[in-house]
Amino acid sequence: LKGKTITVVGSGLIGRSWAMVFLSGGYKVKIYDNKPGQASGAITEIRKQLEELQQAKMLRGNLSAAEQLSLLSSHDDLQQALEGAFFVQECVFEDLEAKQTVFLEVENLVPESVIISSSTSCLMPSNVFSRVQNRTRCIISHPVNPPYYVRLVELVPHPETLPAVMDVAYSLMTDVGQAPVRLKKEIDGFALNRVQYAIIAESWRLVQDGVISVKDIDLVMSEGLGMRYAFIGPIETMHLNAPEGMEDYLQRYSEGMKRVLATFGPVPDFSGEPAARIIKEICELIPSEQEHLTARRERRDQLLMGLAKLKK
Ligand code: NAD
Repeated sequence: LKGKTITVVGSGLIGRSWAMVFLSGGYKVKIYDNKPGQASGAITEIRKQLEELQQAKMLRGNLSAAEQLSLLSSHDDLQQALEGAFFVQECVFEDLEAKQTVFLEVENLVPESVIISSSTSCLMPSNVFSRVQNRTRCIISHPVNPPYYVRLVELVPHPETLPAVMDVAYSLMTDVGQAPVRLKKEIDGFALNRVQYAIIAESWRLVQDGVISVKDIDLVMSEGLGMRYAFIGPIETMHLNAPEGMEDYLQRYSEGMKRVLATFGPVPDFSGEPAARIIKEICELIPSEQEHLTARRERRDQLLMGLAKLKK
């Protein structure tokens, strides 16, 4: 795959991140946006970020920032942007119509062999690719923000996606240093958001029911579960947490798990009085004015950068 060309369609937050990830692996990247000037603006932004990363010794891959930049070009014309690509990563707004239109246009402009990949967080492959004629080469490659430090990519097939297409996407993601996982079939929310929403729901219920404060439930994750989850998942955790491994764990703890799980409440409404209370509590900790949110986002990315270094 090395030296091949990838087209990134949509040059917002995620489009720029994908471009940087692919460049780090030595791929030629052509970035396109339908808003005139947006794609060339993305190059300016990417240049700035690559130079900063180089200074901080956090640049990914074996190439210098200048070498990576020389592989990048911006295009206001889709046909030109798609020329020579073997893989297209779509990163436009999370809007079904917008994405379907993009796929129709892309399909008309590329040969049959080109893989069409979507960054969608919430749309199912069977919806998002419903207007594509040849769906065997379509796949969702769902990144996690910010992809430069959080390497997971969920690969989600359309029911018609060829296994070989999944394999190419998997090899590409591995080659550029991401951590791909394969979903064997499509499901709403994929894997990451299903687990994330389970955590959000129970955290919400615990605060709503007056069991714990917003500050403390967040500490349960950041000082407790999150400490291990950066390195081992929930299943390995079970396996390691009983002297004789998983079977032992199940013997010791499955009754307790079932008892506690049976006390879980219904899906929260995320509105009304409980929402008002939780909004007030989190805004007392972190006011929702831009300056505060920006500062906390910068802190998050700085810490994730350190964690990414540690995981390496
Ligand atoms: P964004 O709003 O930052 O960027 C969208 C870009 O797409 C804009 O530059 C816009 O001009 C461009 N665009 C819109 N219509 C287009 C078209 N028809 N052709 C070409 N370009 C077009 O959005 P984002 O946060 O980068 O999200 C992009 C996708 O990535 C969404 O599907 C989103 O769900 C997914 N995603 C986002 C995150 C995240 O945390 N932001 C994480 C994972 C996946």
